Amino acid sequence: MARNVLSALPRVRILATGGTIAGAQVKGERGYRAAAFSAETLIAAVPQLGELARLEVEQVAAIGSQDMDESTWRQLAVRTAAALADRTIAGVVITHGTDTMEETAFFLNLVVRSAKPIVLVGAMRPATAISADGPMNLYNAVAVAAHAEARGRGVLVVANDEIHFAREIAKTNTTQVGTFASGHRGLAGLVNAGRSHFYAAPVRRHTRASEFSRAKISALPRVDIVYAHAGMGRELIDAAVKAGACGLVLAGVGDGNLCALALAACAQAAQRGVAIVRSSRTGGGVVERNIEIDDDRHGFIVADELNPQKARVLLMLGLTRSRDPAVLQKLFFAY
Ligand code: ASP
Repeated sequence: MARNVLSALPRVRILATGGTIAGAQVKGERGYRAAAFSAETLIAAVPQLGELARLEVEQVAAIGSQDMDESTWRQLAVRTAAALADRTIAGVVITHGTDTMEETAFFLNLVVRSAKPIVLVGAMRPATAISADGPMNLYNAVAVAAHAEARGRGVLVVANDEIHFAREIAKTNTTQVGTFASGHRGLAGLVNAGRSHFYAAPVRRHTRASEFSRAKISALPRVDIVYAHAGMGRELIDAAVKAGACGLVLAGVGDGNLCALALAACAQAAQRGVAIVRSSRTGGGVVERNIEIDDDRHGFIVADELNPQKARVLLMLGLTRSRDPAVLQKLFFAY
């Protein structure tokens, strides 16, 4: 390719963290190992990427995303911000495992202060699998990150020819390539062999408009998730409080409901200053205030549309600002 054409291509930085997209099957073993290949190897497998962008690579981690944690989130936020502060970089692509992709995407959506595209990408099949989905997902992710129309949409996730908003996406299937869904508010767009089609903008505050992107995020307070079920006791709630949780997210039954025992434990925890957020284990719908549980009386917070794992991200960030349930509740209606 001629030199002037090359230099006209946008610069995109890839921050690699591992995941199945970099996974390899090992001969004679069942299954595969995530994070076996470097980002350079993944890029080398898709030479057509050179027609989309000038790529540069930074390996931030090499893990399966089941091992993703808050300190790696903060590191990713810092490295993303540093890349985007470079005026010559058009966008960032983050390769990531799919298990906790939605949490990382939502965290970055709240803490990175930039309008430039930030695109997370993963794969459901390891790089060595028959019909691996990683190469096309990576190609599409770079195309989206290099696209001017991706600006200002917050953090995006690209997989299976779909573009998702960080706030809306959820992993909904253990193994299938169509695992990601954005049930409530729909897709950010579609991307066919690198050709992007964008739909409506995201509805809630993110990136530059997020109050959490104005300051450096230091250590995050402990927030645990407790999963509700028929016949639930109070022991896990008490144990979380005893272990030092500043906040608890309840993956409640139905509309964020809890049995009497669990409710009593949560009410006591709230009285001791622990932030209690009611979300739902159903995977869809809105948890509203004061329907079957008197949130006003107990000082509880409802998660609105956020699933438990995303509610946890927002609650951790919120608790860096305030422990007041009224202040925290407003965040759940704003983000
Ligand atoms: N366990 C893997 C991970 O999240 C699964 C994947 O990437 O699809 O890293």
